[in-house]
Amino acid sequence: MSTTTSTAAAFTRLFGHAPEGEWAAPGRVNLIGEHTDYNDGFVLPIALPHRTRVAARRRDDGLLRLHSAQAEGGVVELPVDGLTPGGVPGWAKYPAAVVWTLRRAGHRVGGADLSFESDVPTGAGLSSSAALECAVALAYRDLHGLGLGVAESALLAQQAENDFVGVPCGIMDQMASLGCEEGSALLLDTRDLSRRQVPFDLAAAGLELLVIDTRVKHDLADGAYAGLRAGCERAAALLGLPALRDLPADGLTAALDRLPVELRPLVRHVVTENDRVRQTVELLDAGELAAVGPVLTAGHASLRDDFGVSCPETDLAVETAVAAGALGARMTGGGFGGSVIALVAAGRGGTVAAEVRAAFAAAGHGAPRVFTATPAAGARRLG
Ligand code: ADP
Ligand code: MG
Repeated sequence: MSTTTSTAAAFTRLFGHAPEGEWAAPGRVNLIGEHTDYNDGFVLPIALPHRTRVAARRRDDGLLRLHSAQAEGGVVELPVDGLTPGGVPGWAKYPAAVVWTLRRAGHRVGGADLSFESDVPTGAGLSSSAALECAVALAYRDLHGLGLGVAESALLAQQAENDFVGVPCGIMDQMASLGCEEGSALLLDTRDLSRRQVPFDLAAAGLELLVIDTRVKHDLADGAYAGLRAGCERAAALLGLPALRDLPADGLTAALDRLPVELRPLVRHVVTENDRVRQTVELLDAGELAAVGPVLTAGHASLRDDFGVSCPETDLAVETAVAAGALGARMTGGGFGGSVIALVAAGRGGTVAAEVRAAFAAAGHGAPRVFTATPAAGARRLG
């Protein structure tokens, strides 16, 4: 392969030999369908142009040597045989998790030298963790001829995060990183992983999608996620349903009457959110992209008022963006911080971003990072 890329050059400098190949996996933003993936529901992410690149070379001595340009501490060295969940500190647990999961699934894979470079903001709700995992999964797939499809690779990467890293995430992030295509949003049914590319041509519609990374992540995030997930599962069980996805929108009112008061808002969010995914896809299919705006804003209200996962910073970003002329805006990702997306008319992005920055400064929040996103390609081999 070419050694001209910076990732490959860094690899060669670090490890003293050239990589066998280079792969990249993107971060994502979810347009709509939040907290639906662990309810067997629907999601509609796009891949970001931001991605994690990995240069890789197999080793035959059972060692995993890992380096990230985005992490302190130099090369991390781990014997593959000694990997145990909870046993790897720091960022290296994500790539190690994928190797451990592949081996647990019976794949005869060993150590490797892996060098990472990424421009996916970390901890911003843009799925840098899935980008890291999926880059490793693809590198191992190709270097070992594992013949894994998109869904199989995504499930392995999700299991890696669930069972080794210890984060009970759903399947959206890994499916988005592996399965998205340039110019489209990915409509994913998280029950059976069936999917469809939905054309999302912002430029043709005279629109821009702003991503506003609030740069805050409140501590609540991890504990609250498990509680919300358990609440949704309890509600489904009380209703005698396999998952909340099986509750249709027109059965919502009757179902709510049968549930304890504290579970009702959770169920209302999940059911109306699945319906918002359906509405959004209908609008995209009809080429009515601007009409998606109010659906996004309604989704934010539901996350804020019913699901209770927004926070002052995401609420302020949404309110300010809409007041500044955005067609719609919502927090994206798990919540309690992270990022907000705003759909704006082409050319308005700068004004909306400036208003949000000013509102953050006035409220005493740190400066957000704002960029424009276009739907990019999913994970793939680069060389
Ligand atoms: P998100 O997936 O929303 O970015 P997470 O908390 O799930 O947030 O994952 C972020 C963590 O993933 C970081 O704290 C770090 O440990 C790890 N990580 C992601 N990308 C990289 C990278 N390129 N280099 C090193 N660590 C990374
Ligand atoms: Mg993550």
